[in-house]
Amino acid sequence: MLTDYHLHLRPDEGGTTFERYFTDENVERYLEAARAAGIEELGVSEHVYRFRAALDLWQHPLWVENAVDDIDAYCEFVRGTPLRLGVECDFIPGAEDRIAVLLDARDFDYVVGSVHFIGEGDAAVDHDGFDVWEGDGDADEIWRRYFEQIAAAARSGLFDILAHPDLVKVWGRARPLPDRDLRAFYEPAVEAIAESGIAVEVSTAGLRKPVGELYPSRQFAEMCVEAGACFALSSDAHLPEQVGFEYERAVGFLDELGISEVCVFEQRRRSLAPLGARVR
Ligand SMILES: [Zn+2]
Ligand SMILES: [Zn+2]
Repeated sequence: MLTDYHLHLRPDEGGTTFERYFTDENVERYLEAARAAGIEELGVSEHVYRFRAALDLWQHPLWVENAVDDIDAYCEFVRGTPLRLGVECDFIPGAEDRIAVLLDARDFDYVVGSVHFIGEGDAAVDHDGFDVWEGDGDADEIWRRYFEQIAAAARSGLFDILAHPDLVKVWGRARPLPDRDLRAFYEPAVEAIAESGIAVEVSTAGLRKPVGELYPSRQFAEMCVEAGACFALSSDAHLPEQVGFEYERAVGFLDELGISEVCVFEQRRRSLAPLGARVR
């Protein structure tokens, strides 16, 4: 079994309207790419901030600008396709109850939880319009805060899959890196992953970013294995040609870690399936 659950039917840029991308023809392009890659389980997890309902959770300027679509129209459209129904939802500290209300009202197969923004302000670890590294970006402080928030996201119990778990590294050497052993930063997150039982995403998206690595790093993944975590596999594709992007690398990585099963989701219930491509 190979899965691609963390997936978007459109690029993040403005002007990518719901009407243009949420069509049977576009879904067919993704399904065709999945068949070619031997991926059996394909699901879509649109960013929550593209929906008007997200403004009940947070009023970040990026969200206010992008929150134009109807989340229930999205769910209805996806249910009419062979895709699993997911959503990528940010963890917003203090908004846990409102996040739960939004998620529980829909019949998602899974919820991908992510941390893009950290701290009290509007700053993001992966968005150059709201760059956390602007000003006195202290690497130790930013990494510590990022992984604390990852830990809180895992512990919240709101999510099934923890997305791109070390996204803070996205810029690679283009931003400051901590001097310390990175395991010190991973530790609280891995502890929360172990306690919550949330699935850890192995994402090939990092290979398309300046860092040029899988999420998570090998060290982080090894700590997760030691803690007994299970893993979900995704490309975070925003285009059909990114479906299953560099999956040989991800499967090899999991193989080397001694992981032979991957998480499969339906109606927010998780099962494990043997890892590997469907032979065509
Ligand atoms: Zn994300
Ligand atoms: Zn995503």
